[in-house]
Amino acid sequence: MTTPVIGVFALQGDVREHVRTLEGIGADVVPVRRPEDIDGIAGLVLPGGESTTMYKLAAAFDLLEPLRKAVAAGLPAYGSCAGMIMLADTIQDGIDGQHTIGGLDIVVRRNAFGRQVDSFEADLDFAEVDGGPVHAVFIRAPWVEDIGAGVQVLARVEGGPADGRVVAVRGGADGQLLATSFHPELTGDARVHELFLRMVRERS
Ligand code: GLN
Repeated sequence: MTTPVIGVFALQGDVREHVRTLEGIGADVVPVRRPEDIDGIAGLVLPGGESTTMYKLAAAFDLLEPLRKAVAAGLPAYGSCAGMIMLADTIQDGIDGQHTIGGLDIVVRRNAFGRQVDSFEADLDFAEVDGGPVHAVFIRAPWVEDIGAGVQVLARVEGGPADGRVVAVRGGADGQLLATSFHPELTGDARVHELFLRMVRERS
């Protein structure tokens, strides 16, 4: 089996944690900081961090348009937390003028869980991931407020004040886009990244 080259958006966020997780399951990983770094990658990971800063830096480094074009042209991508926001077509509670890469027909609400539960952990049933629940770490996380036709819900919060909220989805024209409100890169469980690598391999 060929080793897919995965680019990790590396201008802001928990880049190292994604790189470590991806390398641990056999991917070749390159940092994406400039438009030319996109050439030759088979998949793109957008880390957790701060989407407003990611947006500003991506625009300042002339990376936003090239990333938009690549994702619109079918490049598989996975975003965790701020990365989910970056892949969403529509944001609620963004800052003025905040734009995204887009491609995923969802509405996300930034910092949706509110103050009392703005960081928490939960075990989630995750469709397409075998081997039991996924332990999810949420840090000032968004949730998915609405999904378009063709977007598949992979996980929801169960119980508590956010019961039923959608926190993992798969979409895009060919189901090549994956997004989670939480951070699998922080828990040492690589099953969500493995799902993404399977999605990348399906396409290449
Ligand atoms: N609240 C952050 C944002 O809006 C996301 C937080 C995270 O990635 N842990 O971008």
